[in-house]
Amino acid sequence: MKLTRLRLHGFKSFVEPTDFVIEPGLTGVVGPNGCGKSNLVEALRWAMGETSYKSLRAADMEAVIFAGSGNRPARNHAEVVMSIDNSDRTAPSAVNDSETLEISRRIEREAGSVYRINGRDVRARDVQILFADAATGARSPALVHQGKIGEIIQAKPEQRRRVLEDAAGVAGLHARRHEAELRLKAAETNLTRVEDVIGQLA
Ligand code: ATP
Repeated sequence: MKLTRLRLHGFKSFVEPTDFVIEPGLTGVVGPNGCGKSNLVEALRWAMGETSYKSLRAADMEAVIFAGSGNRPARNHAEVVMSIDNSDRTAPSAVNDSETLEISRRIEREAGSVYRINGRDVRARDVQILFADAATGARSPALVHQGKIGEIIQAKPEQRRRVLEDAAGVAGLHARRHEAELRLKAAETNLTRVEDVIGQLA
C-alpha cells in the first residue's frame, strides 16, 4: 500500500482544491512558517479517522473547515481524499481486490463527517481498522507531530505498549476483538430472552 495522492478541499488553509502527487522515494515539504506544512499531516491523520478527545465537540470538529480570511468567506465543508496504490495487494483482505483505494472523509457544518472507501459509505471504525491492519493510522508512530518524541519518553509503560502494538500491526486485532465482544454480549442477551419466552410457553 502506497500513498500516491492527497487531495484537500476546504481543509484548514487549503481553501481551493489542492492535489499533492506523491512520487516514489522520499518526499520533503518545505515552506515558510505558517504556510500549511503541519496542516498536510493533520489532513492525513484526519482522513485516517482521527477522533481525538479534542475533536469530539461539534465546534471543534468543524475547526478543520476553512474559517475564512481577509477577502475569502468561510467554507461550509472540508474534504480530504487519499489515493492509495494497492498493486502489491498488501491492503487488508476486505479491500484487497482493488488495484487502487480511494479513502475520503468529508465534513459539513452541522452535519458531521462521512467516510468513504472507493465511493462506498463506511464507518469511521472501518477506516481506522483498515489503517491499523496496515500497521499505520492516525495514532500511528509513523506520523510524528511536534512534541511527540517528548510524549513517548514521558509516557507510562501501558501507553508505550500501545505504540509498540501499533508498530507491530496488532492494533486492528484489538479493535476487532472489542467489536466481537460487543456482538457476543448482544447475542447472549438475545439468547436469555429466547429462553424466557420458551420458559413462558412450556
Ligand atoms: P510552522 O512551520 O510554523 O509549523 P506550518 O507550515 O506547519 O508552520 P501550519 O501550522 O500547517 O503551518 O498552518 C498554519 C496556518 O493554517 C495558519 O496560517 C492558520 O491560520 C491556518 N489555518 C489553520 N486552520 C485554519 C482554518 N480552519 N481556516 C483557515 N486557515 C486555517
